[in-house]
Amino acid sequence: MTKYVYSFLEGNRDMKDLLGGKGANLAEMVHLGLPVPPGFTITTEACRAYLEAGETPETLDVEVTAHLRKVEADMGKQLGDPTDPLLVSVRSGAKFSMPGMMETVLNIGLNDQSVEGLAQQSGNDRFAWDSYRRLIQMFGKTVLDIDGDLFADALHGLQQKNNYSGDLDMTTEDLKALVVEYKQIVKDATGEDFPQDPRKQMDLAVEAVFRSWNTDRARIYRRRERIPHDLGTAVNICTMVFGNMGDTSGTGVCFTRDPSTGHSGVYGDYLVNAQGEDVVAGIRNTLSLADLQRLDSTSYDELRAIMTKLETHYRDLCDIEFTIQQGKLWMLQTRVGKRTPAAAFRVAAQLVDERLITTDEAVTRVTGEQLTSLLFPQFDRDAHKTVLTRGMPASPGAAVGEIVLNNQQALERTQAGASVILVRRETNPDDLAGMVAAAGVLTARGGKTSHAAVVARGMGRCCVVGAEDLIVDEAAGTVHVKSINRTFTAGTVIAIDGTSGQVFEGDVPVVDSPVMTYISHGLEAGLAASIDEDTQELVKAVDRILTHADSKRRLDVRANADNPEDAERARDFGAQGIGLCRTEHMFLGDRRKLIEAVILADTDDERQEAFDALVPLQTSDFVGIFSAMDGLPVTVRLIDPPLHEFLPDLTELTAQLAVKEATGEEVTAHDRKILAAVRANHEQNPMLGLRGVRLGLKIPGLFQLQIRAIAEACLECKRQGLDPRPEIMVPLIGSVRELQIVRDEAEQIIAEVSQASGVELSLPIGNMIELPRAAMTAEDIAEESDFFSFGTNDLTQTTWGFSRDDVEASFFNEYFDNAIFGVSPFETIDMHGVGQLVELGVQKGRSTKPDLHCGVCGEHGGDPLSIHFFDSVGIDYVSCSPFRVPVARLEAGRAAISNDVTNA
Ligand code: PEP
Ligand code: MG
Repeated sequence: MTKYVYSFLEGNRDMKDLLGGKGANLAEMVHLGLPVPPGFTITTEACRAYLEAGETPETLDVEVTAHLRKVEADMGKQLGDPTDPLLVSVRSGAKFSMPGMMETVLNIGLNDQSVEGLAQQSGNDRFAWDSYRRLIQMFGKTVLDIDGDLFADALHGLQQKNNYSGDLDMTTEDLKALVVEYKQIVKDATGEDFPQDPRKQMDLAVEAVFRSWNTDRARIYRRRERIPHDLGTAVNICTMVFGNMGDTSGTGVCFTRDPSTGHSGVYGDYLVNAQGEDVVAGIRNTLSLADLQRLDSTSYDELRAIMTKLETHYRDLCDIEFTIQQGKLWMLQTRVGKRTPAAAFRVAAQLVDERLITTDEAVTRVTGEQLTSLLFPQFDRDAHKTVLTRGMPASPGAAVGEIVLNNQQALERTQAGASVILVRRETNPDDLAGMVAAAGVLTARGGKTSHAAVVARGMGRCCVVGAEDLIVDEAAGTVHVKSINRTFTAGTVIAIDGTSGQVFEGDVPVVDSPVMTYISHGLEAGLAASIDEDTQELVKAVDRILTHADSKRRLDVRANADNPEDAERARDFGAQGIGLCRTEHMFLGDRRKLIEAVILADTDDERQEAFDALVPLQTSDFVGIFSAMDGLPVTVRLIDPPLHEFLPDLTELTAQLAVKEATGEEVTAHDRKILAAVRANHEQNPMLGLRGVRLGLKIPGLFQLQIRAIAEACLECKRQGLDPRPEIMVPLIGSVRELQIVRDEAEQIIAEVSQASGVELSLPIGNMIELPRAAMTAEDIAEESDFFSFGTNDLTQTTWGFSRDDVEASFFNEYFDNAIFGVSPFETIDMHGVGQLVELGVQKGRSTKPDLHCGVCGEHGGDPLSIHFFDSVGIDYVSCSPFRVPVARLEAGRAAISNDVTNA
């Protein structure tokens, strides 16, 4: 029988798949002897079973009863007992943290009787009725699907009527009245009374948490964070402890280090006389932990000791949720905390300095994605700026955009091509779509641990919170800045600085980040460009980690570049050569006419004339690139366009000529010749048509011209005392015979150039593996090939039968929704399908030539997950766009270190 429920004593931190992150870490804290309220976890497997069958497995109910009785026995209380009730919280908790995306219900077990019991036991009527109204409100919204505004409006209405400034002003009588009103809301909305049976409350709440796995916002979040849709969430049922039991109670969130800067120290938000939901929702502005020290030094000291214990145990920055109930500290949650990209690098380096982790581990603690975000530009220090106001810096970066006030505006304006800043009074999880679309997020309320802040940090989205100077009026479409008494309408451009918390008027120019300066010009330049000590520390941390990654990686990193400027940039970024120089890009612009002439040529002489004009141009292209990459390999791919890219569009051309005819303008013989050529070359599926090696074989002389240009350029560079290292690559090979023909011709040309000059030229000749047949027959192809380069773009296209240029926009959304894949196979290599062909191609190729050099030059070469896969199947190098080179270096280092661990 499947076991669906684990007590906190049965789990541990390695059981995240089954117990979710929260459940696994609660269990870990219990083992560490920390004060965790008793409880149990319902597994993700139960959630999956529920979502599949639409009902809970029967055995789950039975198991829950047994575990609930154990907790009741431990606590000496029964769930919902009228005289002294045990109350529980029902919290979601997936394997990967999805802050605020799923549901939580607190105070389960309260009803019309037990509220009296709670009042008596606690000696605090107000607290009991406040807890009851919170239960009905949360339960109504999340379990019964009632519009949350109905409850919020009733609450605000009551506060307004009495001129209250907030929740704490409400009296017991107010809360009792609110409970009556809330129950009526439930009755009106559902036709039924608010459920009084405690166990029924609990079961319904569990189901609601299961269902919340599939809400729109949860799905959007998962897609963004690349979390698979089929994991399901666990549910934690935990004895309630109360932060709203008066002034000696409270609740808070803290981090063992600052998640924005990485600095060690005490960092957190605390709210007196409140429940956890108040902190994360950012409804009330919070106190700092220093205030807690003043208010309750015993709990503060205990919390500090626990923070140290947790950080030592997890050997990483931890975030913690805690509650103090009448002076007693309880731990509600911990996990390895989310952090900003800069903090990730700083913390990793600090932990090495503190001898808590090794440098290898430090490399695995940061990601390519984090490095990418550090490369983004920042506001120009010297630019003129008008500060409108300031909030708390919650997630760093520089964002400029139009003010938008809700999701809809955010989506509309970004779809129209605008950059937007989402400005909200406070955010809630429903704002996720807007946050994803926005360049930055600005809120008037909430602390650094509010949802807005946590979610923005997780996404690397620039964010400023708690700008209390702002009055955001969504209905009026305005943002008013109180201190300067100015009002801005939606659509006005502002700029926000997530590092300083400043908000500026208008467009502010941005400049390179110091990390980017370091990457392109070295450590000294990076440090010089860093304004303050914090930034210098960051640049040093990046240098340390990246240098170590470089020393560990097995994969070389090359760049895809087809002009000297890109080649130079790539080299600055640490590229070890060019893995793909797409020569078709060299035939665009003015030179398109020459290719057109090749295609239109009636005689060999005419064609030769066009070739003769092209050879010197190509030669000088190559000289430029080989010089920029002096001493490093440059893989030049022979021309691979679908032919139609070089000819006018058939429909357009037909229309143009029709117009000419209609208006009596002369249609020349040349016009007609082009139209005939376009018609003759028109293909239904150009990507599967006359391209690559097929074109080379169809148009005699085309490849030869390029090969000659490569050889001549090589010679020219040598004459200049350089060390050119070109490699000739043949695209779209499906049969060894194709390669053999090109190779024979190439060798002949190289020999000619070599003989004529008296200089020995050794140019490796290899091919792309981008068709399934090439991978399947790689042992034959290797006979004629000096190297393989996997063109995983085409290999994905041809393996799935997906037209690369069409499918993503046309039906991938449905594929994501149906969990056919969680991420586009054009972005991350489809390891089970396309990836197997790569692995097979490498194996078969090396069965013929054991030392066969194998690279990847498709887009996947710069994708972190794909890089890990390529490392594991024995690829020698990846090649990606210049901007991704630093990321690929880091990820290749991480892959080497973690693949070593998994293989050990
Ligand atoms: C590929 O197919 O992966 C590749 C690199 O070639 P292209 O994208 O130019 O077709
Ligand atoms: Mg290709």
